[in-house]
Amino acid sequence: MISEQFIECNYDIVVIGGGMSGICAALAAARHGAHTALIQSRPVLGGNASSEIRMHIAGASCHFGKKNLWETGILMELMLENKSRNTYFSYPIWDMVLWEKVRYQENLDLFLNTTLDSVETKDARITAAICRQSTTEKAFRFYAKIFVDATGNGTLGYFAGAEWRMGSEGREEFNEPDAPAQPNNNTMGNSIMFIASDKGEEVKFKKPSWAHTFTEEDLKLRPHGTYTWYHGEDGITEEDVPESGYWWIELGGDTGNIIENAEKVTEELYKVVYGIWDHLKNAGDHGAANYELDWVGIVPGIRESRRLVGDYLVTETDVLENRIFEDAVAYGGWPMDEHAPHGVYDKDVNPTRFINFPGAYTLPYRSYYSKNISNLMMAGRDISVTKMALGSSRVMGTCAVGGQAVGTAAAMAVHYGCSPREIGSRIHELQQTLLKDDCYIPGFRNEDPDDFAPSANITATSHTPGNEPGKIVSGVARVVNEESNCWESETLEKGPQTIMLAFSPREPNQIRITFDPNLSREIMMSMTRTVQEREVKYMPLELVRDFTVKVFRNGEVIYQQQVKENNQRLCVYNLDAPLTADKVAVEVQATYGCPSARIFEIRLY
Ligand SMILES: Cc1cc2nc3c(=O)[nH]c(=O)nc-3n(C[C@H](O)[C@H](O)[C@H](O)COP(=O)(O)OP(=O)(O)OC[C@H]3O[C@@H](n4cnc5c(N)ncnc54)[C@H](O)[C@@H]3O)c2cc1C
Repeated sequence: MISEQFIECNYDIVVIGGGMSGICAALAAARHGAHTALIQSRPVLGGNASSEIRMHIAGASCHFGKKNLWETGILMELMLENKSRNTYFSYPIWDMVLWEKVRYQENLDLFLNTTLDSVETKDARITAAICRQSTTEKAFRFYAKIFVDATGNGTLGYFAGAEWRMGSEGREEFNEPDAPAQPNNNTMGNSIMFIASDKGEEVKFKKPSWAHTFTEEDLKLRPHGTYTWYHGEDGITEEDVPESGYWWIELGGDTGNIIENAEKVTEELYKVVYGIWDHLKNAGDHGAANYELDWVGIVPGIRESRRLVGDYLVTETDVLENRIFEDAVAYGGWPMDEHAPHGVYDKDVNPTRFINFPGAYTLPYRSYYSKNISNLMMAGRDISVTKMALGSSRVMGTCAVGGQAVGTAAAMAVHYGCSPREIGSRIHELQQTLLKDDCYIPGFRNEDPDDFAPSANITATSHTPGNEPGKIVSGVARVVNEESNCWESETLEKGPQTIMLAFSPREPNQIRITFDPNLSREIMMSMTRTVQEREVKYMPLELVRDFTVKVFRNGEVIYQQQVKENNQRLCVYNLDAPLTADKVAVEVQATYGCPSARIFEIRLY
């Protein structure tokens, strides 16, 4: 017998789980100077948004129902990068965009096919995470100052003895109006998706012997085949075709413990998904005669399991009241989307219950670190929320912005040599860092004393009514209610349009420009045709494509950066050599289609 040798690795921060929350946490931590490892059990990154599962990233904007609420920061960067090279929604291409961003990030090491097996703890701290890489047969002992649980299931926290919850709180515990009267163990179920395409001629389908049978009565409350349905006060209408789906092919929420029963649930899902396809093909006209399955998921998507308890549990009331926490670091807006625990087998119950609310709520920093394990943070669906609040906070846009907040906070904790909880006393610094990195926190604005743009004299070659040049220092880099917070020029058909910031001579070392990719229109990966058709084919029309950044002294250009085919919202330029300057200008030559130049923010450091 060969005794196992561990490879000992030392990091500042170890993030376990490479879904959208883990990716954003790891990138943020590394970009803020922390030596970081990202451990991902499967061969691709993205979690439920990867090619293995193929869910589209939804967020506070509820697809397009709530205006100007799309998540920005790292998630926007990833989605825009994907949009610029993945016009036809290929999931494998998206996988590689995620891989590239992580793999080539300075300070960040990626361990794919590597699973957290166990943890070592001492004095309510995690000292090491034991992980195994299946492809290399290597075993690792990862030491770190801070560990982030982005596993979805809260596995790291569970192994470490962190306090956790699973199932539903009773109504009285947090006075949640829509919680059940008594607590229970029910969760939402797991799902497997499929994609089919029209082959232009009739295609037969022979049902496998092990697949289940479904009648129209069984599926009377589940939209399938050619079906138009409507949900949401804000007017979400979806026309289903038998091309992809179905989120309601869901099971396992009533098994008592969906983690322990995961393998059984997966097998059952295989029988259901092929049974549903058999129904579409062979049980009446569902518009599917010419369709054939191109892809059926193997890895189920998981909606709900453990939630790790932090210093605060966000509740339904916080969500409904659009609560702005003093220690807000992220936000959500998706309805509380509470799926039926028995899933597809509960034919008389709607597959989900949407509890809608207007606006967005914030998520407090106290919900992102463990109450009882001092160096454990969480990101994703396993954060400290009640089951009711999870119905909203679980969508991947919300998970991703929370992940960025966690990674940033973890790097700060490493920098200051303190615990995640102690970062609470530096919350203003954390919030300001997130805003600088293009995150949005409703109710908060730029108050960075190092940014000297607000004291500059700001002029432009033109502007449209209500979109004056001074709007670029409003402190908020998106439209909020009626306030545009944006400089918008007159038409570029008149020639390039320029915004200028003049100041007393000084040595700027960084210029940060925030453009407008239209935070009301979707740009994410999706296998759903109706979603794909709502998107613009290439880049967002409002995004500035070609522009020049110029730095002046006494009317002479002393630094110039010409950018062609820009594909990002936040563009950062570092002036490496010290230059004494008295003016910065951004000249916009072209957008991807919008007639005017639109800039939300320019910061000068
Ligand atoms: C069918 C379905 C439909 C959904 N629809 C939508 C939707 O339309 N839009 C939306 O935004 N959200 C949707 N959701 C919800 C959303 O997908 C999840 O809430 C979200 O993915 C949670 O993000 P996460 O990062 O916490 O976990 P995940 O996305 O699950 O990522 C966790 C990652 O951790 C890895 N991991 C797990 N355990 C270990 C371990 N021990 N060691 C190493 N790595 C590990 C996994 O491989 C995975 O990559 C849906 C969910 C399901 C199941």
